[in-house]
Amino acid sequence: AKSKGGNNTVYFSRDMEEEITRKVEMEAHLRRAVEKRELFIAFQPILHIQGQSLIGCESLLRWQHPTWGLIPPGEFIPLAEETGLIHDIGKWVLVESCIQLKEWLDQEAGEFYISVNVSARQFQHPTFLNDVEEALAISGLPAEYLCLELTETIMLHDAAHTIEAMKSLAGLGVKLAIDDFGTGYSSLSYLKHLPLHILKIDRSFVQNMSDHTPDVAIVQSISTMGKGLKMKVVAEGVETPGQLELLKELGCDFAQGFLIERPMSLEKMNIFLKKMHLV
Ligand code: C2E
Ligand code: CA
Ligand code: CA
Ligand code: CA
Repeated sequence: AKSKGGNNTVYFSRDMEEEITRKVEMEAHLRRAVEKRELFIAFQPILHIQGQSLIGCESLLRWQHPTWGLIPPGEFIPLAEETGLIHDIGKWVLVESCIQLKEWLDQEAGEFYISVNVSARQFQHPTFLNDVEEALAISGLPAEYLCLELTETIMLHDAAHTIEAMKSLAGLGVKLAIDDFGTGYSSLSYLKHLPLHILKIDRSFVQNMSDHTPDVAIVQSISTMGKGLKMKVVAEGVETPGQLELLKELGCDFAQGFLIERPMSLEKMNIFLKKMHLV
């Protein structure tokens, strides 16, 4: 931290130096993480609210480092984006997610989709469409079971390229979702130009819902808009039975959150599927 006093520049540069060293070190470790099989996927179920059934699950990346322990994505995804490592890591998540869902479908684990997060930089990459095609080909997963979660920030980049790329992806048959919907400061006009299937209401709105907050009106409006646009609406971050009940009344389609299940290891997800009588 920069403190008052004559030698504050020394502290400041030392902190920066440490920060840079830490980043360089982390980057080197992250570079090897895929090969060393330190990355794994946690699965979080998405519930069909009316039917009380499993409709999908989201892949959430985790890094189990041998000495640093479990590192959450918020700590290494930004670094992966900065360094371009996100392309290899993102490809790995895509392939693994498709292979895993195909395996569950083959075990007749009901019918549900897998939702994979795609960062803006990964999406902009010229090989991204090809990566998705390859993941589908390698796994044998039919395209309609794959959903890609994009954020509104992709619209801030090259809008023309974004629209073209999304149309090509939709042409493959994959589903497209807007993640953290409502937090991106972008205009709503893009909704009518894009082949979108799912809107994910950011958990900040869901968690602030109570009788006297504007959040209820926001969640209701997004749900209504989703219906009008023939999109499904997912509420994220559902933690209480009261929230789930309210979401049902407001006409929201799907729910995801700690109330239903936390993100789980493959082992726990298999137990969950058994418990749901899906395998
Ligand atoms: P996100 O896509 O918005 O994912 C939802 C986050 O909310 C996850 O955090 C999840 O564990 C957490 N969450 C789920 N239900 C609840 C709840 O009821 N309450 C609360 N408080 N939190 C809940 P996680 O796993 O730490 O992931 C953080 C972010 O990292 C994700 O946010 C996503 O932006 C990014 N991320 C994760 N995996 C990947 C990946 O494979 N690729 C890319 N590009 N980004 C990823
Ligand atoms: Ca997401
Ligand atoms: Ca989200
Ligand atoms: Ca988020």
